[in-house]
Amino acid sequence: MSETDLSHLVSALSGADIWHTPAVAGLPAIRMSDGPAGVRGTDWAGPASASFPCGASLGATFDPDLVRQVGEALGREARSKNAHVLLAPTVNLQRTPVGGRNFECFSEDPTHTAAIAVAYIDGVQSRGVACCVKHLVCNDAEFARFEVSVEVSERALREVYLVPFEAAVRAGVRAVMAAYNRLGGTFCSEHEWLLTTVLRDEWGFDGVVISDWYGTRSGIPSLVAGCDLEMPGPTRHRGDAIVAALDDPELGERVGDAVAASFGHLRRLAEWTGAAETDTDEITDNDAATRAVIRRAGAAGAVLLTNDSVAGSPALPISPTVSMALIGPYAEHGRVQGGGSARVTPADPVGALEALRERGYEVTHRVGCRIPRYLPFMTGDFEAVFTDEHANSTTRRMRRLQFVRESFHDDGLLGQIGASITGTLRVDAAGDYRVAMRAVGPVRLSIDGNVVVELDGADRGGSFFGFGSDEVIVVVPLEADRDHRVEVEYPPAPSPGLRGVMVGLAPDTDEDLVPDAVAAAAAADCAVLLVGTDDEWETEGEDRTSLSLPGDQDRLIKAVAAVNERTVVVINAGSPVAMPWLDSVAAVVQLWFPGGELGHVLADVLSGDVEPSGRLPITFPRSLEVTPAAAFHPGDGVVANYGEDVAVGHRWYDREGQDPLFWFGHGLGYTEFSWAAASLDPEQALVGVEVTNTGSRLGHEVVQVYVRGPFGLRFAASRKVAIMPGETQTVQVEVPERAAMVWADDGWERARGPVDVLIGTHAGALDAVGTLING
Ligand code: BGC
Repeated sequence: MSETDLSHLVSALSGADIWHTPAVAGLPAIRMSDGPAGVRGTDWAGPASASFPCGASLGATFDPDLVRQVGEALGREARSKNAHVLLAPTVNLQRTPVGGRNFECFSEDPTHTAAIAVAYIDGVQSRGVACCVKHLVCNDAEFARFEVSVEVSERALREVYLVPFEAAVRAGVRAVMAAYNRLGGTFCSEHEWLLTTVLRDEWGFDGVVISDWYGTRSGIPSLVAGCDLEMPGPTRHRGDAIVAALDDPELGERVGDAVAASFGHLRRLAEWTGAAETDTDEITDNDAATRAVIRRAGAAGAVLLTNDSVAGSPALPISPTVSMALIGPYAEHGRVQGGGSARVTPADPVGALEALRERGYEVTHRVGCRIPRYLPFMTGDFEAVFTDEHANSTTRRMRRLQFVRESFHDDGLLGQIGASITGTLRVDAAGDYRVAMRAVGPVRLSIDGNVVVELDGADRGGSFFGFGSDEVIVVVPLEADRDHRVEVEYPPAPSPGLRGVMVGLAPDTDEDLVPDAVAAAAAADCAVLLVGTDDEWETEGEDRTSLSLPGDQDRLIKAVAAVNERTVVVINAGSPVAMPWLDSVAAVVQLWFPGGELGHVLADVLSGDVEPSGRLPITFPRSLEVTPAAAFHPGDGVVANYGEDVAVGHRWYDREGQDPLFWFGHGLGYTEFSWAAASLDPEQALVGVEVTNTGSRLGHEVVQVYVRGPFGLRFAASRKVAIMPGETQTVQVEVPERAAMVWADDGWERARGPVDVLIGTHAGALDAVGTLING
């Protein structure tokens, strides 16, 4: 193809806007949408969408067939938004229990993540909608995600972090999103080894590589490394820079080849998705079939962690004839999803209180405590003058006293942005107010000429994706009905990636809501505490810094459990939390963020209409200090050292001889099973076991197979079965070949030494079945 022809293709290689590729050079526009727990469409405030269980909840189902049906429903949802590409699934790993996007991810385990991801992708793509699996690779935490360089051995990459991506590619995923972070010093979006050598040459990927949003960091390097599409548009790095390079005597040919190849990948995607034939309108679908699968998946992912006996029988299920105190900061509605780009506007969400009353419970509801992560923003009339280190400036009016600026943002200002903000604030009632500030770098806040908060920039907390301070709160008296003068001085300063200031304001009241909740619990037959986090505590952009339930929830749970022996804790969070009250409550259910059918799922599970049949896809630790990445996370924001190497999740606990709170794979049910002795057919690498339901109701068992070899312990495969009371089923599970392989310097090889096969109900309760041949 001639240079002139090629130059026409260049504009196809960057987005037209935030969600579309341009209709150019004979290609139709391709529409993309987030993902993964629903399909938002092109407008954050557009038509509502079905809200699906979060990734951790799908991982907990241990049921690829069900996840395939979830995928099909997601495909239908994507069609209702006329989206051609769903930016999902998220197959990074839950490397640390505090990762901000853990709720989006399926599991700590690569093999399990791969199994669930392939089912999800099959389902979505069966509807003619492409999946864009993300984020390649090692975007396993949010701290400094735009800049940080992950240092990880090739063995850990191959045996752990790349596994779900490889499985997705081999299953035919149509697109891959390159992660923001660097890998070994090079941005993933311009990492030739990652995007070309491994992805295309080794795995045979023939789809489209898309940069994460604003994650293209260069023109030519990203293109020639194998990143086909810069998103979003309009272009920041490509366009003319690429066209000019086509003439370059040294680079021209290589750039031309890359342009032609990337264009070809996009054309294939456009054809496969039928992009030329689709409309552009977006509607709310969320039909009955979709709602039904969301509801089923929510209960199939709910994990019964404990279920002690109360008055001679298990605390759960609870007959709907009893009275119930429903308690918790969000207990009325529950939290259906985590925060960040995974958010949708849920269509017709079903709240907890409403659904439990509908099921027949006589419910009193109390909040018990409140858990906002940050004070609400101070509002007023403000003017901000932003300056850079070259004295360029720009002025903006603000109502809310806050701003964030990313280092690669293109607003004409360069480098180390500072701000001088002045304005006025009025309050309706005189009294003491909490004034809060968090910022990246040094900053000073004054009210009426008095400095009220001054941060020196040295302290790094959780705010601003980990670049900022913790929130600092002071109490300031304010008068009613007069203007208070507010000033923020934020001098330009070096920053690794972000600049920003946020100022909050709220009346200084400390109402203790616990006693009222305790009184309600004492008066009811049972107490259900719907506790957890929310979309500010668990969100893209920010990791948690602690396992503790936010606010006063631990105190609330203990106080309620002290007055009602049938106290059930339902954890409505996407990740593990600490449970200092575990021994004093009757039952604990991990509900995750189950999506828009939350109320129905809760009522199904509590009443026993449906068995909670999930198993933990992530180990629940006893403390943050005793977790695989504790010695390395979060690090300095420059380098993330994956020092635990291949020992992720349960592999690490097993290696270290640590007994976690709950093992990977743990989960109870509403019936009992007995297992006969298992057998191994070493030729076929097939494990078989007879499982009998010895209880009196239908139940689900998840038969889990692990291997132990020179590499330590590994989860290999599982099979979930539904068994009628009195019924015996022979459950067969195949051990995949990879389970016994390790990455040596020049490729995969069979582990040297015996590889034993184990079977059990979680990673900490395993029986040996035999040894694989060649072991
Ligand atoms: C996230 C991606 C997401 C994209 C578009 C980024 O911030 O990392 O997962 O798909 O935004 O919203």
